[in-house]
Amino acid sequence: MIDVTLESVSKRFARGGDAAAVDQVDISIAAGEFFTLLGPSGCGKTTTLRMVAGFYFPTSGRIRFGAEDVTHRPPNKRDTGMVFQNYALFPHMTVAQNVAYGLKIRKVGRAESKRRVEEALGQVHLAGYGHRRIDELSGGQQQRVALARALVIRPRTLLLDEPLSNLDAKLREETRLEIRRIQREAGTTSIYVTHDQAEAMAMSDRIAVMQAGRVQQIGAPQEIYHRPATSFVARFIGRSNVLSLPVVAAAEETVTVRLPGGAEVAAPAPAGHGLREGGTALVSVRPEHIGLTSATDPDALPGQVTDVEFTGMATNLVVDVAGEPVQVAAIDVPAGVAVGDQVGLRLVRDRMWVVRP
Ligand code: ATP
Repeated sequence: MIDVTLESVSKRFARGGDAAAVDQVDISIAAGEFFTLLGPSGCGKTTTLRMVAGFYFPTSGRIRFGAEDVTHRPPNKRDTGMVFQNYALFPHMTVAQNVAYGLKIRKVGRAESKRRVEEALGQVHLAGYGHRRIDELSGGQQQRVALARALVIRPRTLLLDEPLSNLDAKLREETRLEIRRIQREAGTTSIYVTHDQAEAMAMSDRIAVMQAGRVQQIGAPQEIYHRPATSFVARFIGRSNVLSLPVVAAAEETVTVRLPGGAEVAAPAPAGHGLREGGTALVSVRPEHIGLTSATDPDALPGQVTDVEFTGMATNLVVDVAGEPVQVAAIDVPAGVAVGDQVGLRLVRDRMWVVRP
């Protein structure tokens, strides 16, 4: 069942120049889904979320909750709960008073309110903290209060705008698991905004990758990682090499390209790729899908090491292949590989795919 729909939604700001902040975005989110808007700073994800919340109205396009058109409905009539990056809690009130705030506005009776606040604090593992002052809590605890305050009103949609960015790295990882657990238990359709691709991959059912106001790709984390649609998505999600290679043959779903050493590889290509023999294709291959061998290996691309970085789990190398820097992440690197060495690279053939520019 589709719960939230954005139909060709655009937003232009009066003082935003020529470019639309959000440009013809189409998204359908299923009931209970955890959906993430991901992209670099300024790509339009916050503006998109704010249009779903009702803080901004679209310049054009429609937003629906179920069958209802909510495009121009004010925020307080939308039944959404919002969690902000800076928590936006009232510091002079207790935890319980903060969580009860939305219930008070909705004129929920005292006994019912007390019961629901306790239930919400239990959900976020803060039972017994109701009497504490906000400034007596850690950042992670404050963020959980903000989450309880959003959940207590039992919103139809939960909207979260970079809720973890004020936490340190370790707490972020713990809290992202917590948020996902709470969301799963509550079953609330959720839209999450982040610029952190690892966070998006770990938490989401599906992700929309945005760039310059447009959606580049929508898919499950695995899909976006293994089959990025564009060179931007390939580079933004994890790391990827995007090689420009000559096309020797092109079919509907496969394009055959020539590697610098002369070998030919047939790589899957997106529908309507428009590539022809004699043209140039952009081919993505991830650093972990390139193996390191000796410079004399006849089946490998010859190159020269220009960078070596040991990270513990893997060794990251940059290898210059015919003037193009190629990133390689290898688990087992022969001891003593150093900058300046001649090496061979073997690209895993079925892990190469053609991307759109
Ligand atoms: P960040 O991660 O930095 O918050 P974002 O992806 O959420 O970025 P938005 O805040 O949605 O991006 O901004 C998208 C574009 O719209 C940017 O170019 C921004 O400068 C512009 N913009 C956002 N809000 C306004 C506004 N109120 N008035 C004018 N321009 C705006």
